[in-house]
Amino acid sequence: MRSKIVAGNWKMNNDCKQTKSLVKGIKKTIKKLSLENTRVLVAPTFVNLSAAAKRAIKSKIEVVAQNMHQASNGAFTGEISADMLKSIDIKTVIIGHSERRSIFGETDELLAKKVNTAIEKELEVIFCFGEQLEDRKSDNHFNVVKNQLEKGLFHLESIAWNHIVLAYEPVWAIGTGETASPEQAQEMHAFIRNLLEEKYNTSVADTTSILYGGSVKPSNAKEIFSKEDVDGGLIGGASLKAEDFVEIIKAI
Ligand code: PEP
Repeated sequence: MRSKIVAGNWKMNNDCKQTKSLVKGIKKTIKKLSLENTRVLVAPTFVNLSAAAKRAIKSKIEVVAQNMHQASNGAFTGEISADMLKSIDIKTVIIGHSERRSIFGETDELLAKKVNTAIEKELEVIFCFGEQLEDRKSDNHFNVVKNQLEKGLFHLESIAWNHIVLAYEPVWAIGTGETASPEQAQEMHAFIRNLLEEKYNTSVADTTSILYGGSVKPSNAKEIFSKEDVDGGLIGGASLKAEDFVEIIKAI
């Protein structure tokens, strides 16, 4: 059975004090929820990972990283390696977020290298991908998504998929307030699961969690999460307020 996952991507928001207070707020409320087969993840910025992890002790909250460098170590000023993350007990890393792709120029080829390093280091990867608005308007969204998966992940052996979570995030829905309809999300998620079946096997297709991301909020989470192939969400803006994030967790 695949896990349900609600993951908050805090991006470059929250100083140390705000980070601790947000973790505390989420921890307090989710204590009362029965979260069977459901994972709750938060991704603070690098400098606040340890503080967040300390606050998350004895809770369901898993603290994850927003990014990492593909090299093991060396002269890469300003970068963070997989081993550094592991040394502070981080077990999961987001790779390929659309902001990394569009603002920082991360290509499919580079992302494949990051994925390889993360897998070698036994980190779990939340791999993000999704089409631009013009791709959808020109009915090219399935091709774009297939291409991103082929280049970023389909070189992996099936065993590596135990460490992969997919996050389909149509770029036009990220931070825009515009959400894919539950039907659009389901259609794409079913397409992705079908690709996994074709490329790998039923087991990979059935056990890989596929999250939806793009303006998920308390008011729309339940409907999106109710779709068969949507296993949870990657949440940006709405994960910055404990009450909203917890409402989204409840929706799952
Ligand atoms: C994201 O950044 O991954 C995201 C989905 O953001 P938002 O929820 O704000 O659209």
